[in-house]
Amino acid sequence: MNLKLVCDAKAALAEGPVWDTVKGCLYWVDILGQKLHIHYPNEPESDKTIECTPYVSSVVPRLSGGLVITLQNGFHTFDPDTNEISLLAEMEEALTDNRFNDGKCDPAGRFLAGTMSMKDKPSKGALYCLDTDHSVKPLLSEVSISNGLAWSSDNKIMYYIDTPTQQVVAFDYEIETGAISERRVAVEISYPGFPDGMTIDSEGMIWVAHWGGWCVTRWNPFTGQQLASIPVPASQVTSCTFGGPNLDKLYISTARIGLSEDELAKQPHAGGIFCADLGIRGTPAIPYLG
Ligand code: CA
Repeated sequence: MNLKLVCDAKAALAEGPVWDTVKGCLYWVDILGQKLHIHYPNEPESDKTIECTPYVSSVVPRLSGGLVITLQNGFHTFDPDTNEISLLAEMEEALTDNRFNDGKCDPAGRFLAGTMSMKDKPSKGALYCLDTDHSVKPLLSEVSISNGLAWSSDNKIMYYIDTPTQQVVAFDYEIETGAISERRVAVEISYPGFPDGMTIDSEGMIWVAHWGGWCVTRWNPFTGQQLASIPVPASQVTSCTFGGPNLDKLYISTARIGLSEDELAKQPHAGGIFCADLGIRGTPAIPYLG
């Protein structure tokens, strides 16, 4: 396995990597640094960093052009050429201690994203679905730290991580409506650290980033068994996604926030984006279709 550092960004909280299959670039965000990053693997000198406040937390490409992002309290369109931001839907504007966190498009091009308390209060968050007509409905309430999302390639199962539960749960997914049902535990992840972001590969196996665990792990969501563990030279591993022209590179984001000088001396590239060549292919990220 070969793992390399591709963005030595020293981000406070690098998150939400997503591969744009049309443009051949990787988007990712630094939530606490309040920046959107665009990485071009073939010409890294063209990499872009754009200030995006307050608290840009997830990004997806938009089929009709530009991007859609979550800021602290809502879904917005974003034009990376002009930096123009336009509100699509405001959420939780009265919950001033909350912010959006991880988000991703479902196979029908709806944008799902969840929230969390910035003061670590449990059960204050929720998971929302921005439909392609720009309406929003809540899918889950009483979530603590809404994180990883993934869908099976037959579109019938949604996987979801609320970090403090230390579980990946599965739902039956109704692709025509976006409705979820039949919640069950797919994987228990009690060690090391906490499950954070997630992606799924072309074999239907899920990949989970371990906050505080120095690794990304691969799991069979049907048996709950761990299949592999990829060590990462940073303790706070936040998310992962497959990218590259063949979708066979695993991009991994990490965080620097909260680490002491002693800890940073042992993990100088914390807050960077790493890339692992695993010989396994992912599934393409779906753009927002609204
Ligand atoms: Ca996260």
